[in-house]
Amino acid sequence: MGNLLVVGSMAFDTVRTPFGEANDVLGGSATYFSTSASFFTDVDLIAVVGEDFPEEHLTFLRERGINLAGLERRDGKTFRWKGEYTYQLNEAQTLETHLNVLETFRPKIPEAYCDPNMLFLGNIDPDLQMDVLNKVTRPSIVACDTMNFWIDGKRDALWKVLEKIDILIINDGEARALGEDPNLVQVAKQILSKGPKHLIIKRGEYGVLMFTGKQVFGAPAFPLEQVKDPTGAGDTFAGGFMGYLASTGDLTDEGLRRAIIYGSVMASFNVEAFSLDRLRHLDRKEIDDRFREFKRLTHFDDLS
Ligand code: AMP
Repeated sequence: MGNLLVVGSMAFDTVRTPFGEANDVLGGSATYFSTSASFFTDVDLIAVVGEDFPEEHLTFLRERGINLAGLERRDGKTFRWKGEYTYQLNEAQTLETHLNVLETFRPKIPEAYCDPNMLFLGNIDPDLQMDVLNKVTRPSIVACDTMNFWIDGKRDALWKVLEKIDILIINDGEARALGEDPNLVQVAKQILSKGPKHLIIKRGEYGVLMFTGKQVFGAPAFPLEQVKDPTGAGDTFAGGFMGYLASTGDLTDEGLRRAIIYGSVMASFNVEAFSLDRLRHLDRKEIDDRFREFKRLTHFDDLS
């Protein structure tokens, strides 16, 4: 059985929040996802960067044990994204998206990646997500993320991907846009009727909802004294969620709920600093300590 496989973007991000700004820093859905998941399991990464991508970023990922055999370096510039957050930190305003080398990327899957245990189709062109899905042996779990850029630009291709996956992980604004309905319960009904068994809706500081059939599980976000930059929170959540699932192999409802909390723990660390800076200085003990704090945060007794 193979590893946890991820395809997604690797990027230079320029981000402005009310608490500071960062220019051309390391970002991208595959970068955040793989770094977060690497705290729990072995990760194989598929992505593309340009000739301008510094070796030090690759060294960082390698040192986290991430397998970069599926990373392609091509002539041209790396994907670039520019975004801004107001005091309403839950949703980024995209100011610029430059696909650059992502525009013509066609993933090649190394032999060793062809039989993954789990697959995460990170935020990237749905045609590329489908391409990867078609090229590997169907893993036990396929999860997928996306964003407005693709919901608006490639809606039909995206729906085709969604028919083939097990878990969709998106934020509330994206869920409403995808379902064309303001009510998340109605949106969940619609999406689950198309194929995914679980829909996980990320709601920023309000936490996460997981819809499975008629059941709903809700978890709050960890109350933090300081949030500096929400970029990558979604991918870091997904990395913790899938990484934990891959490490336990427990796909029961209880296992999925624990994975949601590990995902929330990882996202809560990530937003404390710009880029991946908090994840660079994180250890497993801090993760497990915060997981226990989460348990206390949400525990209550039923006296009836
Ligand atoms: P999130 O977890 O949703 O905050 O994802 C943030 C990351 O998504 C940033 O690091 C961006 O580089 C990346 N990103 C933004 N727009 C796109 C896009 N259209 N396709 C792929 N990745 C993107």
